[in-house]
Amino acid sequence: MGDVACEDAKRRGREDAKEDAKTRRHEDAKTPRASAHPHVFGSSHPAQRRLAEMTWPEVAEAVAAGATTVILPLGATEQHGPHLPLGTDTFRATALAERLLALLPDALLAPTLPIGCSDEHTGFAGLLSLNTDTLVCIVVDCARRMAAWGVQRLVLLSAHGGNTDALALAVERLHHEVPTLRIWPSLATLQRDGDSINAARLRIARTDGIAPEAVGIHAGEGETSEMLHLRPDLVRQAQRQPGYCGDITAIMPRLRTAGLRPVTPSGVLGDPTAADAARGARYLDADAAAIAAVLDW
Ligand SMILES: [Zn+2]
Repeated sequence: MGDVACEDAKRRGREDAKEDAKTRRHEDAKTPRASAHPHVFGSSHPAQRRLAEMTWPEVAEAVAAGATTVILPLGATEQHGPHLPLGTDTFRATALAERLLALLPDALLAPTLPIGCSDEHTGFAGLLSLNTDTLVCIVVDCARRMAAWGVQRLVLLSAHGGNTDALALAVERLHHEVPTLRIWPSLATLQRDGDSINAARLRIARTDGIAPEAVGIHAGEGETSEMLHLRPDLVRQAQRQPGYCGDITAIMPRLRTAGLRPVTPSGVLGDPTAADAARGARYLDADAAAIAAVLDW
């Protein structure tokens, strides 16, 4: 490294340190749990902890200094009604992962997997979907490589419920093949179990007078609010129409066997007309905080 580069590195180091201090103050103010995570390596700033934007020496240094958690976000490419883009779950997974990254100073962020298991959306144009076995192999292969360069904890952060079975199988396989790796279950698993994360989201909806049937589980008020916050340019406002707004548990067996098409011709489960960008941001914040709170290695 030349002198100029050396000076540059020192200056960047000082700037990083300033940013780190800022981030820590922000996180401490935001959540009492953040202070439980020590400042473990050179850069705790979220922008410098995305694998795709780091070099290998930076990753090696970060891992050596204690950044041994990786967040792997999982999305999907599937219909989200006539008003939301096919990549909705991928945008949501990335946004949620970025929020979680800001709350976990010892974590690195892997790129979001943009295709998942979405066969329940067969019959709608634009679908890309993996067989369950394929997604299992992708997750297992990535996790195995992570463990080889020092990762000890893996957060599987799925924003798409259809990935749940594959993730459960992947977790089971990794338990045998990479027993040193600790894995936190997916968001989808937690939502299926009706845990605290979903509860946090529904509390926000109730406060704002939105019924759970309107929030919906697919392209309803919930996901539409998030997209209005994340990518309003991609929301087709004029196309927002209520979809199936009845009891979800009653139609679940049919959704599992026949998919969404016979239940909701538009592809929407919920009512996106009441969606609101600010509420979407609150949903994402609440989800990330609820996940950070239950992460207990
Ligand atoms: Zn979705």
